[in-house]
Amino acid sequence: MNSMSPKQGAKGVLKKIKSRRAVPLSSRELKESVTTIGYKTSHVLPAIRLKVSYQELKERVGGKAAGLIEMSKLKVPVPPAFNISTAVCRYFLSTGQLPEVVLSQMKVALSGLEASLKKNFGKAQDPLLISVRSGARVSMPGMMDTILNIGLNREVTQKLAELNPSRARFWWDCYRRLIQMFSEVVLEVPYEDFDRALMELRQEEGVESDAQISVKGLQALCTTYQQIVKRAGVEFPENPWSQVVLATEAVFKSWNSERAKTYRTLHHYSEDWGTAVTIQAMVFGNLNEHSGTGVVFTRDPSTGAKRIYGEYLLNAQGEDVVAGIRTPEPIEEMRRQLPQSFGELQKALTRLETHFNDAQDVEFTIEDKRLYILQTRSAKRTASAAIENVVQFVQEKRLKPAEALQRISFDQVRQLLHPTLSPSKEKPLGRGLAASPGAAAGRIAFDPERAVSLHRAGHKVILVRRETSPEDIMGMAVSEGILTSTGGMTSHAAVVGRGMGKCCVVGCSDLQVNEKDRSAILNGIALHEEDWITLNGSTGEVYSGQLPTQPVTWGESAKKFFVWADQSSRIPVYANADTPEQATQARGLGARGIGLCRTEHMFFDKDRIHRFRSMILSEKESDRETAARALQAYQEADFYEILKAMEGFPVTVRLLDPPLHEFLPSIENEQEIAELAKGLGTSSARLVQRIYQLHETNPMLGHRGCRLGITFPEIYEMQVRALAASLKRNLSEGRKVFLKIMIPLVMNAEELSWLLSRLKVVFQGDAKLQKVTSWGTMIELPRACLIANEIAPLVDFISFGTNDLTQTTLGLSRDDAAKFIPTYLELGLLKVDPFESIDQAGVGRLIQMAVTEGRKANRNLEVGICGEHGGDPESIQFFERHLFDSVSCSPYRVPIARLALGRCGLDSRGSKRRK
Ligand code: ADP
Ligand code: MG
Ligand code: MG
Repeated sequence: MNSMSPKQGAKGVLKKIKSRRAVPLSSRELKESVTTIGYKTSHVLPAIRLKVSYQELKERVGGKAAGLIEMSKLKVPVPPAFNISTAVCRYFLSTGQLPEVVLSQMKVALSGLEASLKKNFGKAQDPLLISVRSGARVSMPGMMDTILNIGLNREVTQKLAELNPSRARFWWDCYRRLIQMFSEVVLEVPYEDFDRALMELRQEEGVESDAQISVKGLQALCTTYQQIVKRAGVEFPENPWSQVVLATEAVFKSWNSERAKTYRTLHHYSEDWGTAVTIQAMVFGNLNEHSGTGVVFTRDPSTGAKRIYGEYLLNAQGEDVVAGIRTPEPIEEMRRQLPQSFGELQKALTRLETHFNDAQDVEFTIEDKRLYILQTRSAKRTASAAIENVVQFVQEKRLKPAEALQRISFDQVRQLLHPTLSPSKEKPLGRGLAASPGAAAGRIAFDPERAVSLHRAGHKVILVRRETSPEDIMGMAVSEGILTSTGGMTSHAAVVGRGMGKCCVVGCSDLQVNEKDRSAILNGIALHEEDWITLNGSTGEVYSGQLPTQPVTWGESAKKFFVWADQSSRIPVYANADTPEQATQARGLGARGIGLCRTEHMFFDKDRIHRFRSMILSEKESDRETAARALQAYQEADFYEILKAMEGFPVTVRLLDPPLHEFLPSIENEQEIAELAKGLGTSSARLVQRIYQLHETNPMLGHRGCRLGITFPEIYEMQVRALAASLKRNLSEGRKVFLKIMIPLVMNAEELSWLLSRLKVVFQGDAKLQKVTSWGTMIELPRACLIANEIAPLVDFISFGTNDLTQTTLGLSRDDAAKFIPTYLELGLLKVDPFESIDQAGVGRLIQMAVTEGRKANRNLEVGICGEHGGDPESIQFFERHLFDSVSCSPYRVPIARLALGRCGLDSRGSKRRK
């Protein structure tokens, strides 16, 4: 429903006139502004003569009308109709007026409709009633609701009732429905008043259902309804032609309703498309016991199974189903009740599915045994049903595998990967940003330690924080989902959540978290530790209690589909995976290597971090060595398992990267300080001093990456020794393993060659190890791009760390950017968030330069990417175009990347490519 009041609506339109230039209709648009469907009349163009592709047809006349036009061509029965184009909508929204020419064409089209059906609009003798329907090029919630039964007024209804007293009740009911619908939808009178009047009437007459109300009662109700409308300061138009014009204008205005606008923003749909209007002869599913109405899918929309699925109601109009007045029956009932019409319906469905070459979702009405189809479109179905369907179509030889790849959207792939909430009527407690999709239910933990202990005790956990930081990793890892009150789509919680494939809702600003008291309040409801909550990471909704979720498992069809994608892609997808579990998971999702194994998380375990802290805080080299040896054992085990899990595929391990800063203990934690000091044989005071020394003001640009490896060589040496040992162990056990060692954050060739010569020593003299090991660096700084020609000869591969490269090129901190990027997007100062999709003009240019010059200097240089952008379809296409050798992304994005690459292969088939 439209959210503006009539007055605001008019004001809104006025404002538009002032702020927007009028969009004049071109001569073609003028000629095609009104078209007829299913009948011909002089001076109005029959839609059948619009010789354009189906896509373009949808753009001009809207999806609904395009379907009707196509059906009339196929001789599938549709009620005749005429359409007013989207171009007229654009004109109307920019001027506030329907052009005279269009109005007169509409009049002609309406007379033609009367003539073709031998009925009369606005008269009681063989009356023609019509519906006014909205339709943009894609179906869009928020547009105006369809108005049925237009053309009735008191006088006509009175006469109709007199002419055929047995149908008096039917006509008065039609009329009262028209007043209600028109007034709610076009005049924006609140529906509660109508509902109340209807309820009072039922009580007065002592009946239970609307169907039992007397004719007199209905007649009186029409009067009451008109009074309600008057009281709201508007008037129900008794003139049938005015009804048509006002309803048409209201459809156009609804293009700018708040809901429609929000929907467009969310889906990146253009504001300029506009909607069309379809005016169609009414058919009556509520005429008698040989009539009915329903919705039917040619294949099961939840599983994709090849069988008709649908619902229907005998003797009813469409709105009865929507309004929940009656519960529809399964379509099989129709076979029994109206066998002849059912046969016709089956025939029509087959014809439509064959013609559109896709499962359809169809709205139909039967009027006195005659079937009419009112709408057909590609079925809205679950992601797994969609995959099932394309695979069926390929097997039925109606689709080529390559075409199948274009049929499944990236959003559908995302849906395939996450459990979803089972449908329920539960109301959400609140809402935040939908940061990482899926659904999760669990008990609340307000800090990571608590999350871990709850998890150990066998509970499902939702970590609820104001925001998260790297120290929370363990807690996040054991949680089913994460909820934060602050932060945006690129906050730590969001990025890490997505990386882990965890359901995550961030920036839930109504949530007040009191971490000290271990409690929170969300819209007046108190939440305590261990209370159950449920998150919907696909919508951002937060519910109290435990709502049921449905897991998604990949069937044979999904597996087949992604194999087709791989077959048409040139390069493999690697995964960013830090643990053996993640590696196994990524492999299961089709990763053919690990493009980034971050080693920092391996240190966040309680025991390990203690040793790590001893290492960086000790001032004696011997202490550092001891700590390093202890850590080496842990690392060996980690690397061994990861290499093993990825047998046959390369594993890229990045040496330690995060700022030293992040490993420092909190000075407030006196107990930890005391313990550490004791272990290091120093005083707490002295240790605190050392901590201050290591503290940084701007850690992102501080003591991190290879700078850490240069100032604390023990760390990298230890890691490389651990890698060598784990490699050896795998080789000796007969596994084919491949290791790529990657040095982060280099800014010049000198630091890289200093480190390489020091680290390669570990492998010296062992040809077997050398054979399966390659060396590379991560390119994360603009300077590294600029001197790629100096870097390339030193290494076997480079991999772009596009998160940091974006931060350092744009001078933006990812964790803070959420505060202003949304404003930039709103104002159109940025087209997309550069952390979501690669900034091709800036960062992309640096990348392009580095790849070209790097390859010039080292012909065998392998090029990869391991930032978040490796899972973004548009960025992937960019990397593919620039002849990367692989892309790497978080495990849950691997299927998205596989599909994106599969599609790239199609675009450029036949063109000459580097191997
Ligand atoms: P939506 O975009 O919400 O699907 P529609 O324009 O398809 O809106 O209309 C909704 C329902 O209204 C249809 O499914 C059908 O039941 C009924 N309806 C619309 N136009 C007609 C018509 N000309 N005759 C009979 N019923 C109609
Ligand atoms: Mg519909
Ligand atoms: Mg980095």
